[in-house]
Amino acid sequence: MAENEVLLRQITEYVWIYPHGKKSERIEPVVGAIITSNQTVLIDCGNSPGHARAIQRALNEIKAPPVSTIIYTHHHWDHTFGSCVFDAEVIACQLCAHEMEKMAEIPWGPKWLEREMRENPLMERSNQAKLLVVDDWSELQIVKPNRVFTDQLTLHVDDIPLQLQWVGGPHASDSITVEVVGQGVLFVADCFYPPPFHLRKPEDSVDWNMLNRLGKESIQWYVHGHGDPLLSDEVMQLCQQMGK
Ligand SMILES: [Zn+2]
Repeated sequence: MAENEVLLRQITEYVWIYPHGKKSERIEPVVGAIITSNQTVLIDCGNSPGHARAIQRALNEIKAPPVSTIIYTHHHWDHTFGSCVFDAEVIACQLCAHEMEKMAEIPWGPKWLEREMRENPLMERSNQAKLLVVDDWSELQIVKPNRVFTDQLTLHVDDIPLQLQWVGGPHASDSITVEVVGQGVLFVADCFYPPPFHLRKPEDSVDWNMLNRLGKESIQWYVHGHGDPLLSDEVMQLCQQMGK
C-alpha cells in the first residue's frame, strides 16, 4: 500500500467511513460505506475520479465486496464527482436528480471554471479546489441517479435497512439523511451547514437546532460531511451550547 493512503475507519459492525481530507483546499468530504458480505453501498462517492479511486483502493484493502449502490446526500460536486469511477446504481431524491440534470449540462473543465471565477470571484475557493482535484477532465462524467424518491425510501442492504429521508435545510434544498437502522448511525452530510460560500449571507451559520431535531435516542453516531463523526453526547453538548 502506497504511503499517504487514507484508510477506512470502522464505526460499527457494518458501517465504515472514508474520513474527510485534512487538506482543506482539496474539499474532500467524508464518504460512508455500508459493507455486508455481499455488497458495498456508498453514501456519496468522493469529489473527483482520483478521490473515488483512492476510496476504491481503501475498500480493496479490507476486501470489501463490489460497490452495488451509491446514495447521493445532495448534488454538490464534492459529493458526486467521484461517481463515474463506480459501476453502480445511483439513488437520490427528486430535487437532487433535478440538480444533477443541470450539472450534466455544464461543460466542466478549466476554461468554464476560470470564466465562472472571473464572473463571480466568490466561486474562487470551490473552483480552485475542482482544478486541484480533477486531474483529467476528459474522464469526468456527471452520473445522474437512476433511482429517485420524493420524500423517503427504505433500502435493504441484505439484512440492513437504510432509511433515506429528504430533509432540505440551509445548506442545500435537496439534502437527505441516511439512517443505518439497527446500527445507531445517522449520515447527516452537510444538511445543517450554512449554504456554500458563494451563496452565504453574513447571518448564515451552522443550524444546530436542525441537527438537534434530526437526532433520536437510537442514534449513537452522527456522520457529517466535512469533519470527524460526532457521538450523540457531543451533538447534545454542541446543540445546547450553539443552538439559539
Ligand atoms: Zn455541500
